[in-house]
Amino acid sequence: VRNGDVSFWYRDLPVQERRAPLPGARTVDVAIVGGGFTGLWTAYYLKRADPTLEVAVIEREFAGFGASGRNGGWLSAEFAGSRERYARASGRAAVVGLIGAMRQTVDEVIAVARTEGIDADIAKDGVLFVARSPAQLKRLREGVDDDRTWGETEDDVRILGRDELATRVEIDGALAASYSPHCAAVQPAKLVRGLASAVERLGVQIHENTTATAIAPRTVRTDRGTVRATHVLRCLEGFTASIAGQRRAWLPMNSSMVVTEPLPEPVAARIGWRRREVFGDFAHAYMYAQRTADGRIALGGRGRPYRFGSRTDHNGRTQHATVESLTALLRTLFPAAAEVPIAHAWCGVLGVPRDWSTTVTYDRTTGLGAAGGYVGSGLAATNLAGRTLADLVSGTDSELTRLPWVGRRVRTWEPEPIRWLGVQAMYAMYRRADRDEYRSESSKTSPIARFANAISGR
Ligand SMILES: Cc1cc2nc3c(=O)[nH]c(=O)nc-3n(C[C@H](O)[C@H](O)[C@H](O)COP(=O)(O)OP(=O)(O)OC[C@H]3O[C@@H](n4cnc5c(N)ncnc54)[C@H](O)[C@@H]3O)c2cc1C
Repeated sequence: VRNGDVSFWYRDLPVQERRAPLPGARTVDVAIVGGGFTGLWTAYYLKRADPTLEVAVIEREFAGFGASGRNGGWLSAEFAGSRERYARASGRAAVVGLIGAMRQTVDEVIAVARTEGIDADIAKDGVLFVARSPAQLKRLREGVDDDRTWGETEDDVRILGRDELATRVEIDGALAASYSPHCAAVQPAKLVRGLASAVERLGVQIHENTTATAIAPRTVRTDRGTVRATHVLRCLEGFTASIAGQRRAWLPMNSSMVVTEPLPEPVAARIGWRRREVFGDFAHAYMYAQRTADGRIALGGRGRPYRFGSRTDHNGRTQHATVESLTALLRTLFPAAAEVPIAHAWCGVLGVPRDWSTTVTYDRTTGLGAAGGYVGSGLAATNLAGRTLADLVSGTDSELTRLPWVGRRVRTWEPEPIRWLGVQAMYAMYRRADRDEYRSESSKTSPIARFANAISGR
C-alpha cells in the first residue's frame, strides 16, 4: 500500500514543477497566505471583479498541497456548525439564506470548472447518508424532520428505505439512507490544480516554496522576504497554528483515506453503485466515501485525530493502524470487495474552531481578513467564503457579506496538554459510543456520545 505522497489524487496527474518562490520583498494590493481552495477562490473572484488589483498568493509547498488536494471529493451544500447556533446569533432567515447560498455554490463551482476548462471528473449525483444501527436510524429520521423545519422539501432531502437504497448501492447492514441531490463527486487535485492555473491566467502570482511566519496589519513575513499589502488574508485552515500567535485558533484535526484498486467487474456488479453518489454514515466517528471516475472506492474517516501541539503530518503519511481500520471498515461495508487490494492511503488536516462553525472575517481598519474553520465541509464552502472575502476586501455590501458566518468571534482552544487530552478523550468516547450503538437494539443515541458532544462544543 502506498502511503502519503500528499494523496492518491495526485498519482495519476502529470508531474508539475513547483512555481518560483517569492523573489524578495514585494508590495501588492492583496496578499493571500495559503494556496488551497480558500486562497485561490478569493484570488479568482478578486481578480475577476477588478483586473487591475495586484494579488499575490504565498504558499509554503505548492498550491493544493493541503486539504484541498487530499479530501474526499464531496462537493456538497453542507456546511460546518449547527444551524441553530448560527440562528441564535443571526436569526433563522439568515441561516435559510446560507442554506440556499451553499446549494447555489455547488453549481457555481461546476460552472467555473466548465468555463475555465477544468476537467475534474465531476458528477452531480447527490449524497447518501446511511444508517446501520437503530440509533443511527433514529438520528437519520430526526435529521430529516429537522431539515423540514428549515424549509427543505422532498426535492432537497428524502429517506430511502433499505430496498430503494439497494437499487443504488449495496451496503452491508444498511437499514435506510437519506438522499440529497445537492452534492457532486469531484477529483479534488484536478480541481485545485486547474483552479490555480486559472488564477494565474488572470494575472495572480502564486509564490510556492515560500513559508509565512508572521502576519500583521499590511505585512506578511516569510522566509523569502516581507510582503507589504493593503489587505492581508489568512487562508491556512488546518495549518493556521503554524503562524505566530495563532497556536490555539483552529485545531488541526486529522482525517485519513484509503482507496482501492479499480473494482473488477464481478465485484462492481454485486455492489451496484453505478452512479457516483457520495455516501457517509450516521456514526459519531463518521466515514465518507466516493466511487471514483475510474471505478475505485475511496473511503475516509478519523485516524489518530490530533497530534500534540497542533502539529501536522509529513507529506500525507498516515499511521499503519489507521490504514488497517479504514480497510476493515471498507470491507465491512462492502464484503464483495474483500479481495480488492488497497492501492493508496494518506491523510490531511482540517481546521476545527472551538465552536465547530465556519468564520469569514475582515477588519477594514487593519486590512486583515481570514476564512476557514470548515471542519469536514470545505470543498464548496471555500468558494462561498472566497467570494465573500472578495466582497469584504472591495467594500461591496452584498448578500454574501451578510451571511451568518461573517464576522463571528470564536474563543480559542485550551492550552496543551488539555487540548490533546480533550481530543483524545472525545474520540475515545465516540468510538465507544459507536460500538455500543452497533451492539444495541435500542434506538437511543449513546449517552457517552451526548456527553462528548456537550464537552467538545460540537
Ligand atoms: C482527508 C480529508 C478529507 C476531506 N473531505 C472533504 C470532503 O469530502 N468534502 C468537503 O467539503 N471537505 C472535505 N475536507 C475538507 C476540505 O478539504 C477543506 O475544508 C478545504 O480543502 C480547505 O481549503 P483551504 O484552502 O482553507 O485549506 P488547505 O487546502 O489546507 O490550504 C492551506 C494551504 O496553506 C499552505 N500553508 C500551510 N502553512 C503555510 C505557511 N506557514 N505559509 C504559507 N502557506 C502555508 C498549505 O501548504 C496549504 O496549501 C476534507 C479534508 C481532509 C483533510
